[in-house]
Amino acid sequence: MTRIAPGLDEIAAPSPLLIVDDVSIGYRTPAGWLTAVDSVSFTISAGERLVLLGPSGCGKSTLLRAVGGFLKPSTGVILFRGAPVIKPGPDRMTVFQEFDQLLPWRTVLGNVRFALERGRGLARREATEVARDWLGRVGLTRAVDAYPHTLSGGMKQRVAIARAFALQPALLLMDEPFAALDALTRRQMQDELLGLCEETGSTALFVTHGIDEAIRVGTRILAMTPHPGRLAASFDVPVETRERGTSRFAALESHIQHSVFAERETEHA
Ligand code: ADP
Ligand code: MG
Repeated sequence: MTRIAPGLDEIAAPSPLLIVDDVSIGYRTPAGWLTAVDSVSFTISAGERLVLLGPSGCGKSTLLRAVGGFLKPSTGVILFRGAPVIKPGPDRMTVFQEFDQLLPWRTVLGNVRFALERGRGLARREATEVARDWLGRVGLTRAVDAYPHTLSGGMKQRVAIARAFALQPALLLMDEPFAALDALTRRQMQDELLGLCEETGSTALFVTHGIDEAIRVGTRILAMTPHPGRLAASFDVPVETRERGTSRFAALESHIQHSVFAERETEHA
């Protein structure tokens, strides 16, 4: 499989790829100002897969949306390739948790092709070829002419993943893409995603509430705690730890659980 070659601008771009510097993000609510993300700083270098891990409500989606350019930090700055993030772009494609992120009036092929025409400016013929290739890689060759409403949740997420990879974004953003899937499909899709990321050398920011998922897909994990959302700890995931069912995997899972989340569980018990 071909590695996604970096463009010239990428080679010249300053490292790291993404800098999140002292970012706080709040929402105006009927009950007053709600700080969803509080003074968060981290960086992502090319080739890394950084996972934001934490329970529901700790600000993971808020942070991801800010990196995607969908919302503005209240304070602090987000630099992508050295420039402040001000709007969304195909260089930061997002895969969302919801199954309804595809255009319902376009076929599977049409969804990916349309994104390629718009996002990479490909002519229809080339866009069709590239789309077919990526849909094949996620096992959807036979579903290219289907409409989204006829697909299972797992298949819809596969289309969204194929579409995101097809655009060759410098940074892939994923917000719990497997959270609504059954456990068996989720595992399979984690493995497939890991394979695609490794084959393409993709850089990713992945959000999840599952410790096992974080270890499986990430090269580094940032654990977050809620009220307000803050970074609590950072964990590197060595290659040999990524293998499910091994003692290393179980040890890291238990270490993260006990060092970050155990105390909170008893707090709420
Ligand atoms: P997570 O993705 O980790 O579950 P979110 O980023 O969705 O967390 O939410 C963080 C906090 O911000 C939560 O308390 C949530 O209720 C609040 N929040 C999220 N989106 C909005 C919004 N659009 N308006 C008001 N509050 C919001
Ligand atoms: Mg969320």
